[in-house]
Amino acid sequence: MKKDEMTSGNHTFTILLYHGVDAGEKFYEQRSNKEREYIITKAQFNNHLELFKRLGMQTPPLEQCLRQIQNNKFASRTLILSFDDGEESGYTTIAPLLEKYGFRGSYFIVAGWINKPGYMTEDQIRQLHKRGHGIYSHSMTHPFFTRISEAEIMSELRESKECLEKILGQEVKCFSLPTGEYDERFKELIAHSGYSYICTSREGYNRVMQKRQYPFLLHRFAIRNYTKLRDLKFIINARKITNLLLALKAITFFILKNIIGKDRYERIRSGIINNFYKD
Ligand SMILES: [Zn+2]
Repeated sequence: MKKDEMTSGNHTFTILLYHGVDAGEKFYEQRSNKEREYIITKAQFNNHLELFKRLGMQTPPLEQCLRQIQNNKFASRTLILSFDDGEESGYTTIAPLLEKYGFRGSYFIVAGWINKPGYMTEDQIRQLHKRGHGIYSHSMTHPFFTRISEAEIMSELRESKECLEKILGQEVKCFSLPTGEYDERFKELIAHSGYSYICTSREGYNRVMQKRQYPFLLHRFAIRNYTKLRDLKFIINARKITNLLLALKAITFFILKNIIGKDRYERIRSGIINNFYKD
């Protein structure tokens, strides 16, 4: 074996994408049906965590997982639990449950929503960080990055980074993309944004090499209120079959796009994606 092969291992890990967890708050009652699709109940979340524990998963914050890969200390049963937007349930419901199982979360905060009703306060964010959870950026105002100018994209990336770094007193290296949409401009801009790791909403696993160049885009599996325990088990344990299903889905979308035209395709695409894990 050559020296390079011994020192540059490849590692695959899974990131799940959560939003809020509803424990009966008024904030969630007022959400639209579309928004509620991404909100799960406290009982559902507890069942998910119980499953992860049973499967022997380790859930470090994202940055720690990537550091473990670089230092050759990566645990093969690693699962990253990410939470987008910075809703208050991240502090009141999610963190205590995670900690009950010895898990840690990766929170992506919309910096411009901090201290607003239904969202975490600066102090709550600081406390989560102190308790070992990862705190990262999810932009300043949560725009569609495909619909704003390059200058606006850059200020969303930089301002939110600075704002969170001021709260934490530490560098923020991870960013998750609001609304999941991005284009070639974004890919070029992130190279100058100061972030090392960018989470998208594209489904798939992450195969991270120790010697990979930064920054790079990471995949995530979004959790919805109809995601079943067996879907989760499948994502975690059946990587080969899930990869095959994702490839088939991509081919189907490609064919559809060419048959029915791009505009009509875009309108129905989200509906099909949302039904992927449905019975
Ligand atoms: Zn978001």
